[in-house]
Amino acid sequence: MVQIKFMQKIQNYINGELVEPISKTYIDNYNPSIGEVYSLIPDSDEQDVELATKAAKAAFPKWSKTPKDDRSRILQKLAQLIEDNLDRLAEAESRDNGKPLSLAKRVDIPRAASNFNFYATGILHYASESHAMEDTAINYTLREPIGVCGCISPWNLPLYLFTWKIAPALAAGNTVVAKPSEVTPFTAYLLSELCVEAGLPNGVLNIVHGLGHKVGTAITKHTDIPVISFTGGTVTGAEIIKIAGPMFKKMSLELGGKNPNIIFDDCDFDKALKTTMHSSFANQGQICLCGSRIFVKRGIYEKFKIAFVEKTKKLKVGNPFDTDTNLGAVVSQPHMEKVLSYVKLAQEEGGTVLTGGHQVHLDGELQNGYYIAPTIIEGLTFDCRTNQEEIFGPVVTIMPFDTEEEVLMMANSTKYGLASTVWTQDVTKAHNVASKLHSGIVWVNCWLLRDLRTPFGGVKNSGVGREGGFNAFEFFTEPKNVCIKL
Ligand code: NAD
Repeated sequence: MVQIKFMQKIQNYINGELVEPISKTYIDNYNPSIGEVYSLIPDSDEQDVELATKAAKAAFPKWSKTPKDDRSRILQKLAQLIEDNLDRLAEAESRDNGKPLSLAKRVDIPRAASNFNFYATGILHYASESHAMEDTAINYTLREPIGVCGCISPWNLPLYLFTWKIAPALAAGNTVVAKPSEVTPFTAYLLSELCVEAGLPNGVLNIVHGLGHKVGTAITKHTDIPVISFTGGTVTGAEIIKIAGPMFKKMSLELGGKNPNIIFDDCDFDKALKTTMHSSFANQGQICLCGSRIFVKRGIYEKFKIAFVEKTKKLKVGNPFDTDTNLGAVVSQPHMEKVLSYVKLAQEEGGTVLTGGHQVHLDGELQNGYYIAPTIIEGLTFDCRTNQEEIFGPVVTIMPFDTEEEVLMMANSTKYGLASTVWTQDVTKAHNVASKLHSGIVWVNCWLLRDLRTPFGGVKNSGVGREGGFNAFEFFTEPKNVCIKL
């Protein structure tokens, strides 16, 4: 007998209601840990974006004039509901994305709650400038919400990055049409249920699910959406600029990376090694901030390499729901194939795979899941494709260097410039190297240590603009200078 599985249908969230897409068509949503479809995503199009935008536009006058204390209270309630639903949300995130449940519980979902708390309270402290001209005049700057903001996010940290955009936009008094990644839509859907429970007024936040070239493009080109906040790949960012640029939309683009880890011989060896394990393989290497090119001072290169390979071999690739799993599944079959194609390319370019380099086949119901062994490659030149292009998986390269100048040249050689990590006990060297690195973020003797007040973003092809702290409020508001002659 053929067993018919119940497929949960995700719904759009438009004008305060959970609704079907107008076309009534759906696309498959996979659980990457078992390689099977387990729910259905609305295949929305510009008609759904139109409805969502109308709702957001209608809600804007009231929401933008709602006292910030009231907006803050509603958003803090939403944060509380996320905390109350930690287990349910973390399980959904792990099932949808393939990431270890322990990671979703420790990082993704708590951070989604923090995003709302941080911006809900941040707006209470946000003040604008005043410039006095002695006895002549006084200038003051109004910071006004702009209108309907389009927020588009990727699959690697689904709820974490989705809320990182929505929270400041709403706190500042805007309304939002948001699109989560079609690869990992589930927690955004659960968030819409929580928005209803939190009493967020209808139309203030609208979530439209579906494909990038349909929903994403419809948001990007909508004339009633003057602001686009996007996180995703550099190629997609360029497509957005092509449409939104000539429309003079305000844009914040957080894009790809190819981040260097620079390990000097005067580092705290054990700390550098332990943290490099995380920065290489956390979330299966699918964090835009992961260090994928590891440069080690020649004097400690062999020692570091041997210890790094040994530790990596001990990592457990397994069921994301098991508490001792270090790496779960990568997000999709096409992504797994892309990552493995880079291992092949690295070998063609003369690299040697020190460990990993292959798909991992697990047993039982996990046999069709998308698992990759954590991989370390050496013997490549800094300028080969493997060392220049973003792989975005559990694959890193390791290379020796001799001088500070040489390592800075190699670190800065890619078209990206998101984050860098530097390991040294010498403060002067740390300052010097940090100042010369072409990247928006430099971590010294740590990685992914985040203070939400700090500017977040990249240079070169890693992005345009900064998120985080008051930078986000500056982006999501329009300054207006008023000059009064005395
Ligand atoms: P992606 O660019 O394929 O998709 C991101 C989002 O954009 C998705 O919601 C997608 O549906 C949508 N989209 C796709 N095509 C679109 C179009 N033409 N117009 C509008 N929207 C469109 O990226 P991804 O594969 O989901 O995520 C991985 C990438 O994101 C990596 O390059 C990674 O480095 C980057 N990333 C960057 C940061 C950062 O903060 N800089 C953070 C996380 C991920």
